[in-house]
Amino acid sequence: MIQLTSQNIQLQAQAKNKEEAIRAAGRVLINAGNIAPGYIESMLGREEQANTYLGNGIAIPHGMGKDRELIHKTGVSVVQFPDGVEWNPGQIVRIVVGIAAKSDEHLSILAALTEVLDDTATADRLACTNDPADIIRGLGGNGAKPATAETPGDLPNPQYLEVQLRPGAGLHARPATNFVHIANEFQSELRVSFGGKTANGKAMASLLKLGAQGGATLHLSASGPDADAVLAALKEGVESGLGDEDEKETPVIAERASVPESSGRAIGGVAASPGLAIGRLHHFRADHIVVKDTPGDPDVEWGKFRDAIESAKGQLEDVYDSMKARVGKNEASIFRAHLAFLADAELAGEATALIEARHSAAWSWQQTIERRVAEVRQASDHHIAARAADLHDVGQRVLRLLAETEHSEAALPDQPCILIAADLTPSDTAKLDPQRILGFVTVAGGPTSHTAIIARSLDIPAIVGAGAAVLELTEGITCILDGTSGSLYTEPSAAELESARAFQVDMQRQRDEENFARYQPALMTDGHRIEVVANIGKAAEAATAVDAGAEGVGLLRTEFLFLERNTPPTEDDQFEAYSEMTRALNGLPLIIRTLDIGGDKVVPYLPQPKEDNPFLGVRGIRLCLRKPELFLPQLRAIFRASVTGPVKIMFPMIATLEDLRAAKEVAEQVRAELGVPPVEIGIMVEVPSTVVMAAEFAQECDFFSIGTNDLTQYVLAMDRMHAALAKQVDGLHPAVLRMIEQTVRGAESAGKWVGVCGGVAGDPRGAVILAGLGVTELSMSIPSIAAVKAHLRGISHAKAKAFAKQALACKTANEVRALPLP
Ligand code: PEP
Ligand code: MG
Repeated sequence: MIQLTSQNIQLQAQAKNKEEAIRAAGRVLINAGNIAPGYIESMLGREEQANTYLGNGIAIPHGMGKDRELIHKTGVSVVQFPDGVEWNPGQIVRIVVGIAAKSDEHLSILAALTEVLDDTATADRLACTNDPADIIRGLGGNGAKPATAETPGDLPNPQYLEVQLRPGAGLHARPATNFVHIANEFQSELRVSFGGKTANGKAMASLLKLGAQGGATLHLSASGPDADAVLAALKEGVESGLGDEDEKETPVIAERASVPESSGRAIGGVAASPGLAIGRLHHFRADHIVVKDTPGDPDVEWGKFRDAIESAKGQLEDVYDSMKARVGKNEASIFRAHLAFLADAELAGEATALIEARHSAAWSWQQTIERRVAEVRQASDHHIAARAADLHDVGQRVLRLLAETEHSEAALPDQPCILIAADLTPSDTAKLDPQRILGFVTVAGGPTSHTAIIARSLDIPAIVGAGAAVLELTEGITCILDGTSGSLYTEPSAAELESARAFQVDMQRQRDEENFARYQPALMTDGHRIEVVANIGKAAEAATAVDAGAEGVGLLRTEFLFLERNTPPTEDDQFEAYSEMTRALNGLPLIIRTLDIGGDKVVPYLPQPKEDNPFLGVRGIRLCLRKPELFLPQLRAIFRASVTGPVKIMFPMIATLEDLRAAKEVAEQVRAELGVPPVEIGIMVEVPSTVVMAAEFAQECDFFSIGTNDLTQYVLAMDRMHAALAKQVDGLHPAVLRMIEQTVRGAESAGKWVGVCGGVAGDPRGAVILAGLGVTELSMSIPSIAAVKAHLRGISHAKAKAFAKQALACKTANEVRALPLP
């Protein structure tokens, strides 16, 4: 632990501005032998990216991670400015804590600071004391407050295990969700202890309360029939990082300033989501739910509580699905974490105890949540503290249902605007329509908050942590919000507006150029052509794909016609859907993949026996061959549609030649019965056995389409849905790339073509490698089409081949991702 001594403290200092104050804090660090002089510039640079004002007159300037080598040893300096220094408009700092951190040792001082933050009297006293001992006592790093929550009871005959969190992977929301998810797979009770506190390892909110940072050693104890197994599973989960993503401290920084430095009134905050917005301000006021403690019948109130939790779960499933469709699974997983809070038995237990004491359900839940939010907010790890916002959000969602108030959607205006809010919950943010909300600024929040993550995925420029001054801004004034640098420029001059608009135009130009050229073929600079087609799942998407520049459909996932209904679609339903697509494609190719259910895709009207390993079970073609009542109508519908446009058939999950032959035989019978011409028949290559036997398969089908999503999971033996493995299931792993190369060679031996329809095809880096490996068709989700085409048009096939060769020679996926793109 760092010891604060008088050598690190400077009292009664003066500074004209923030820069002078930061330099003063840096000098104290230099004199104490903590840093090389160059680190001061790094501290100033960091401040430009992110406002380090903490609140209550305290700021914590620190350098950028990349400059860590300028730190000789971890340390802090405390410089007192009794007259105050204006940090940002409206933010006066009187204690500057300069931080030079090689590791986590300074966290104890930060923990002490969080206490001072809540205590204005202490902050005021430290800001004018003449005695360094006061500062040492006040900020001496004696650790965070002792836990106030009751500790879960001891377990009978427990088994123990110690595990260490990976550095930089503290127990914040996503890792904690995964931890709880693993723990709940087992029957045994689980306790997790850290820093003198003990939590229920199966309860999300309880775990967050521990405030365990990256590198922390957790003591696990389990009691029950599978105690051994739960400890082993958690050890493995923790050691693999619990699916934590390296959330960037600050998002991408602009290459050039978008607004003149000399701009008039600028309010600084934390850059949370890049981009530039120009518009009028609107103050967003979230509805405040007032709950009274009316006495209630415990049975009635408990019923209300249970219904509200169930409805909230339903809402969150809907939000998850809609976010997944809008911005992808990764970002949407935030709402899975919210669901985990609702499944937290401890939270429910606390609320139930209050209900049983004859309080109303709404009041009981509000008390429970407010207490937990306050506890989580005290965590010294800012990732964990930031999760208080998520817990609050979930709490409000349930409370709205219990208090039977409508969420005031009317709080959002009709005209496009920049929102100012005290804070936005992740749910509020997920509802924002980027057409109407040009950007937003919040008083509170940090760059790793889920609100910020959602803003980035929705492409809405945003600033968080801007301080209370923004609440004073006049409704309706024009502003420039620079989400890249974290600055809000109020009432800009005409010149500033012009400069900002020019910047917006530049950024838009690049997107427009890609869009404008979307109908041009992906002709590489040396004339080699790659066919760029779309993955679709619904009839209406065929037209959207063509509009986005797709040269056809490389993968129609027909299972989407079968999901979300109570009976299978009839042959006629399917014929209608397939022929609607051929009409929209107007002569462009349509590859229809036969039903690929099983694995992660299940349909309610097809009760399948429970399988221990569904991804290795009766899935895809294996299911269809066993269920002619599904397979035959589908094939009939496809062949009937094949006379309305150029249709090809593709079989999923082909692992053996026997399966391919059996599927082809059924298809041929159907075709002969209908008396229609043959169509090309291809297979998904997504199982390693098919790669190894590619030459043989190529003799017996017309084309291959490599499903890198499944191929990656089967090659690396990593479940593609497994949260804890998400970062490692990388389709650019050299093992997967070598499999793709082998497939292409096998196909070439029989003169057949190879496409790729897994996620790698839509990643510009992946697309270049695949083109270089000899893949000639890339099928991807619709939004990727214009950018991938533009990218391929910018390089030669010769360069792509050389790049692919480098990628094949790499040893890890990270090495492939680090190669400079040609
Ligand atoms: C794949 O596995 O890569 C693929 C495209 O199919 P799906 O994602 O539908 O399994
Ligand atoms: Mg697949």
